[in-house]
Amino acid sequence: MPPDLRAPEQGLPPGFAAAPRHRSYDVVIVGGGIMGAATAWFLASDPVFDGRVLVVERDPSYAFASTTHTNSCIRQQFSTALNVRISQFTAAYIKNLRAELGGDPRVPDLDIHAFGYLYLAASAEGADTLRANVAVQREAGAATRLLTPDAIADAWPFYALDGIRLGAINTVDEGYWDGATVFDWWRRRAREAGVEWVADTVTGLTLARGRVAAVRLARAGDIACGQIVAAAGPRAAEVARMAGLDLPVEPRKRHTWVFRAARPLDRALPLTIDPSGVHVRELGGGTYMAGGHGAEDPAVAPDDFAREEGLWEETVWPALAARIPAFEAIRVEAEWVGHYAMNVFDRNAIAGPHPDLANLLFLAGFSGHGLQQSPAMGRGTAEWLIHGGYRTLDLSPFHLDRIAAGRPILERAVI
Ligand SMILES: Cc1cc2nc3c(=O)[nH]c(=O)nc-3n(C[C@H](O)[C@H](O)[C@H](O)COP(=O)(O)OP(=O)(O)OC[C@H]3O[C@@H](n4cnc5c(N)ncnc54)[C@H](O)[C@@H]3O)c2cc1C
Repeated sequence: MPPDLRAPEQGLPPGFAAAPRHRSYDVVIVGGGIMGAATAWFLASDPVFDGRVLVVERDPSYAFASTTHTNSCIRQQFSTALNVRISQFTAAYIKNLRAELGGDPRVPDLDIHAFGYLYLAASAEGADTLRANVAVQREAGAATRLLTPDAIADAWPFYALDGIRLGAINTVDEGYWDGATVFDWWRRRAREAGVEWVADTVTGLTLARGRVAAVRLARAGDIACGQIVAAAGPRAAEVARMAGLDLPVEPRKRHTWVFRAARPLDRALPLTIDPSGVHVRELGGGTYMAGGHGAEDPAVAPDDFAREEGLWEETVWPALAARIPAFEAIRVEAEWVGHYAMNVFDRNAIAGPHPDLANLLFLAGFSGHGLQQSPAMGRGTAEWLIHGGYRTLDLSPFHLDRIAAGRPILERAVI
């Protein structure tokens, strides 16, 4: 019987077992967030693969995972062409979800609510960056357009555009998508295909002859593994340290506020990225969602989710109200703090095998754009695990060797 159809074990959420059934697995995935789930599903659904897969998740409630704190948006506006191609795949995947999941009639139809991201630049340097990014995006097939301040004012008269020099928008495959539903279905289908999900914590790795021979689980002890995927989100560096490795990934706090406007805007609000770094989008019914972080933005402990006092009142709200005066009268209805897994080397994904430990693969450092990258990352990682190389999109530019070689691929469009 598939594991997620059984009665919840020992008070665990459905689908989680308290202990692995076996002492040895072909693939062990550390972390059952969106990246772990994507990898599990793409492995389990590959007709060539018949190995045993174990996903180890320390927090079966996902109360602290990045995946459950996300704003769940997708954009094509990146400065790295590979990221545009990854988003193109994601957009097609979302719109074709049922077929991608084998035609399962239980899977709902999804779409992208394509309100578009509007990047605003206030400095000459910011405008140059927008022009350079848009050139990369258009070359890669995205529909981004540059907008003068007059064009922005015509389309959205509610902005106060003082100091704004340029904008960039794309309303094709750019906006909100229902990442939680995709996450649910990947987990459900992977479990039905035999992937085990265990509630336990990986506390150590046993290395032997240039490989990871076993993962140590806090409760279940040593589990032998053929290959291991470290998909531990903001705790990625913690897992790397278990193999004696340094990974430039740090937990960074990101605040989200949901607010209601006394006077809702008279037309749809694109996801607006203000030069101050604050961003805001429409949620519907007169409510809006804003995000931001403190000026210092230090690395934090992975279990520190305390709100930064005064951030909303003194920084974020004033910046929003300066750009959209109608937001001077609002009421905050909800707020939360999540963690980005920030790649402080170049703000791009870290994927693929470690150069010195070939059976240890990373999926880390997504720097706030991981949810939308999960289909391509899961697919590519499964390809590497099964075939030892990529069969579709080449993710090797994101391999770890660039870090040792000091060759960053800087992603400039990080929100
Ligand atoms: C406020 C906010 C807004 C965001 N908005 C967007 C957005 O609009 N679009 C977008 O694309 N992305 C967005 N992101 C980023 C996106 O949510 C993440 O990149 C993505 O969820 C990362 O998934 P993950 O599986 O790598 O990490 P996680 O979801 O954090 O999952 C990792 C899992 O590993 C587990 N784990 C860690 N260590 C161990 C261990 N030793 N043993 C066992 N388990 C372990 C953790 O418990 C966790 O559940 C946002 C993030 C935040 C915080």
